[in-house]
Order: sequence, then structure tokens, then C-alpha cells
Amino acid sequence: MELGLTGKVAIVGGASRGIGKAIALALAQEGCHVAICARGKSDLEATAEEIRSQTGARVLPAVCDMSSYKDIQALVRRTAETFGRIDIVVNNAGGPPVGTFDDFSEEEWQKAVDQNFLSAVRTIRQALPHLRKQGGRIINITSVAVKQPIDSLILSNSVRMGVVGMAKTLSREVAKDGITVNNICPGNIATQRLLSLFEARAQREGRPFQEVLKEEESRTPTGFLGEPADIAALVVFLASEKARYISGATIQVDGGSTTAVF
Ligand code: NAD
Repeated sequence: MELGLTGKVAIVGGASRGIGKAIALALAQEGCHVAICARGKSDLEATAEEIRSQTGARVLPAVCDMSSYKDIQALVRRTAETFGRIDIVVNNAGGPPVGTFDDFSEEEWQKAVDQNFLSAVRTIRQALPHLRKQGGRIINITSVAVKQPIDSLILSNSVRMGVVGMAKTLSREVAKDGITVNNICPGNIATQRLLSLFEARAQREGRPFQEVLKEEESRTPTGFLGEPADIAALVVFLASEKARYISGATIQVDGGSTTAVF
């Protein structure tokens, strides 16, 4: 299928590893130039080199804390200066910590809002003038928690709903500019972060890691955990010309785990 992505320029947040890295790699494989960001320089540069050597794409590694507006402004400015255009924005960052209402202070709530809600608002605000020149794609990585809140993830359950509300409204406002806005909701995706959460649980419960892993796999109707590439495949399609009529959607990639209908 010709996806029409050759020569397009994408910004991918939180992309030194995990889901963001897989997204940047997949877009680069389809012919995009990519700006990738994370807070740590050395991992980010190693990832950029890996993507360059596997795909031949131009990759800009931009150190950026997605919870800082100043960093986001610099990221978008550098991307436009380096590549001359911006077509695709993938909003992604590390997830907020696990915990219940009583666990979190004012500062921790504010950090979750900055990192997982305002990061998307701010990146979009900075990138929109560029996207409006030729049309574009905005894709927000959220969580199945927006369809089915997950116990002990109150920060994620709360702030990600803001992203979905913003994206739905924005999708209707920017459709006339040829811009689509969609959300992807990962279920259990076997990244380093998820596996370390399983490891911590195994230790807490005094059980072998493999037992916890098997339990999680068997909870998923497909019987296996997703890979970051499973999320990247949907990003590539939503970013493509073929997805021009899909906007304002919130789509889970979760092996069938979500029991809610919508
Ligand atoms: P991860 O921790 O493996 O990778 C996160 C990436 O973002 C890393 O490159 C990290 O350096 C970077 N990052 C973290 N905080 C950042 C910040 N403030 N600024 C810039 N970069 C930052 O995580 P992942 O598993 O790939 O998950 C990505 C997103 O998807 C997270 O928000 C996560 O909560 C969400 N999610 C993941 C799963 C899953 O099963 N893996 C499920 C649902 C939702």
C-alpha cells in the first residue's frame, strides 16, 4: 500500500526507547524524517543513530523534557529549522507514577498535568502553524485507561481524559485545514517500563517474575502482550494519506482486553 509518507517530517515525543522509539523507527522506514526527543542525551543519540543506520532517514535527536513549555518551543523550532516543514506530531511521554488519590501531592498532580496533558496542548500549539501550511496529522499516545480506568493509576486515568476531550474538539476545528487528530490507547505493551512494573509486583507479592508475566498474558484475549511495533503500525496508518477520513477517533491497541464497547 502506498502510504504517501515519503519526505514527510514527524516529531515523536518520548522516543529514546519503548513505544516512542518504535513509532519513530516505523515512520522512518516509511520515508519520513523524524525529530525524536527525550530528557537524556546519550540514549537519545544512540537511538537516533540506530534509526539512521536501519533506515537511512534524517533523524534529529532533540533533548527535551515534555513537561517544559520552553523545551517544547525549542523542539518545534529546531525541527522546523532543520527540515523546513512539519507534517506529523506524535505526542508521547513517560507515564505518571502508580498510586491512589491519597498518595499524591499538589506538585505530583501538576507534574502529571504538565507531562501527560499540557505536553500535547503545547506541542500542538507550537506545531499548528507549520501543519496548517500543507495539512497534517496529530496523534496522541494515551492509554486504555481512557476507555476503562485502571485501579491505582489515578493520575493517568485523570489527565489522559483531558487529552481525549481536547483532541475531539480540536479535530473538528482543524479539519478544514486538512489536519486530522486521533488518539491511540495502548493496552499492555511489553516495553522496559511495563516489564519493570511486573518485576516490582513479583517482588512485592513474593512470586516469580515468569508467573506474573504468564498471568498478564493470559488476561489478554489474544494470549500475548503487545509489542511497541503494534502501536507503531497504527501510527503509520493514521499518519498516512490513506487515513484522511479518520479524525477525532480514540482507538485501543490492546489484544482485545478492553471490555467496554466504545
Ligand atoms: P517507556 O518508559 O518505555 O518510554 C518512555 C520514553 O519517553 C522514553 O524514551 C523516555 O526517555 C521518554 N520520556 C519519559 N518522560 C519524558 C519527558 N518528561 N520528556 C521527554 N521524554 C520523556 O514508556 P512506554 O512503555 O514506551 O510508554 C509510552 C507511553 O505510553 C507512556 O505515557 C505510557 O504510560 C503509555 N502507555 C504504555 C503502556 C504499556 O503497556 N507500555 C500502556 C498504556 C499506556
